[in-house]
Amino acid sequence: MIVGIDLGTTHSLIGMHTADGQVLFPNPHGQVLTPSVVSVVDGAVLVGQAARDRLVSHPQASVAHFKRWMGTHRETRLGEHRFRPEELSALVLRTLLADAEAALGYKVEEAVISVPAYFSDAQRKATRAAGELAGIRVERLINEPTAAALAYGLQQREQEGRILVLDLGGGTFDVSILELFDGIVEVHASAGDNFLGGEDFLQVLVQAFKQETGLDTATLDGVEQAQLLQRLEQLKRELSARSLVELEITLAGRELKWSVDETRYAQLCEPLLQRMRAPIERAIRDARLKPDALDDIILVGGAARMPMVTRLATRMFGRLPLRHINPDQAIALGAAVAAGMKARDSSLQEVVLTDVCPYTLGTQVSRMGPDGKERSGYFHPIIQRNSVVPVSREDVFHPIHAEQKFLRIDVYQGESPTVDKNIKLGELQVPLTTREGEGDRSVTTRFTYDVDGILQVEVTENASGKRHELVLEQNPGVLAPEQIRQRLQALDALKIHPREQQVNLALIARTERMYSEYVDQRDQLQGWLLQFREALESQETQRVERHRHELSKALDALEGVY
Ligand code: AMP
Repeated sequence: MIVGIDLGTTHSLIGMHTADGQVLFPNPHGQVLTPSVVSVVDGAVLVGQAARDRLVSHPQASVAHFKRWMGTHRETRLGEHRFRPEELSALVLRTLLADAEAALGYKVEEAVISVPAYFSDAQRKATRAAGELAGIRVERLINEPTAAALAYGLQQREQEGRILVLDLGGGTFDVSILELFDGIVEVHASAGDNFLGGEDFLQVLVQAFKQETGLDTATLDGVEQAQLLQRLEQLKRELSARSLVELEITLAGRELKWSVDETRYAQLCEPLLQRMRAPIERAIRDARLKPDALDDIILVGGAARMPMVTRLATRMFGRLPLRHINPDQAIALGAAVAAGMKARDSSLQEVVLTDVCPYTLGTQVSRMGPDGKERSGYFHPIIQRNSVVPVSREDVFHPIHAEQKFLRIDVYQGESPTVDKNIKLGELQVPLTTREGEGDRSVTTRFTYDVDGILQVEVTENASGKRHELVLEQNPGVLAPEQIRQRLQALDALKIHPREQQVNLALIARTERMYSEYVDQRDQLQGWLLQFREALESQETQRVERHRHELSKALDALEGVY
């Protein structure tokens, strides 16, 4: 069986396709959304809800939003350990897999993982590496908006037409245009912004709060900063349901009161909304469509819940967007469908999916200027964006100088005519065995972009027919197979709290977070915490369970959760 996984910036989900449709597996807290947060406690790792609560009480030992660093070498220090972004993602994946395995009763070995359509080659490779580090085979990477459309398309099997999916997640914004007909889901165009998501909308609130209260956040300690972020995140979500929200918080010894209404919030977010327009317009242009030729607009991703996003879509397309499926779950459900298709599930046999490569891939070349001087730094596209994948294209290159013994091929992704504005994916050094005067010294370079969005480059010397199947070297932010093996050993040695323990630790983390937030209730919270710890030390299952139940109820009452 293959599972489908949505590895999100703020939350992750795991599911599977069954004969009765898609199911999502809950975590030990009974939730299908598991926070993508990692925390280290007493040298062992905690993932999910408990880690998210510790983000407030122990910010130095906890980390979130690491999806944004995938494909870079950035390391995070938590306690004694240093983690790369793909290792943090692997810890989330391990937790999700444990939840699925607990529900299924057997080991999961393969998965389809969703990635933002606009993820670069390095980010995709890092996601695959995260899968390997979590001990599973990544059968396929699927683009998030494609997954969302797949979930949607299957619900409306009879429906035919062109749909535009706007996916605003925690850290990324993706746009895709798809066509559905006879069970075929065809992606016509994808565009996006890898650095635009719900987090940026949160930062707008942070800035407004700072400016209007005159609070210098630099004077806050880590715990208070995390507390402020958590409260403003809550406020941001409330603004999706109410027009006016208020915040009362004590920071740096000051009692602060602040309120903001949705209209003003939307005004402050105008620059971000403007940024969302560009990829939407580009996807429409690339699909060679007029906006009114679209049959439906679908919103997915938690941040698409903001009314200002609905208004933007309504303004741009003159109609209300659809939100049939819970926007937080659409991608995971679609990934589960894609997993079912990989597993050749009979109920999905007539569904076909084609996707596109969202960006242009090419090499750097030199060109002769009008003055007869040679200038380097020009981009030479080999695979144009929105080509249907898998795609393979080739081109011929010649050495410029007679004495050249190597030909260097610099590989770039991007849409600018000069390489300095594009993203470098890596470079290859091809030895030229034919000397000057001995014959044809040209090489043929073939780019193959597979369904996962991963690029392979193959170079053939035309005179000798000698083929160099080279992997991209100096690929920024990507681990080599040997490094993955080493990291895997290190991760395997790491203690991960078992599921049962996670529930208790989560409750402690929640109580500690509330202790840092509810100054007036501290004595009470401290007392509860002591009682619960005593119960845990007794190791009597029934006593632990009773205390856990009572403490959760008491905390719910205090936080107003029912
Ligand atoms: P992801 O987990 O990557 O899908 O992203 C979730 C994003 O959606 C985060 O930035 C959340 O803050 C945001 N989000 C979730 N629910 C809401 C809501 N009700 N209103 C506004 N933003 C939300």
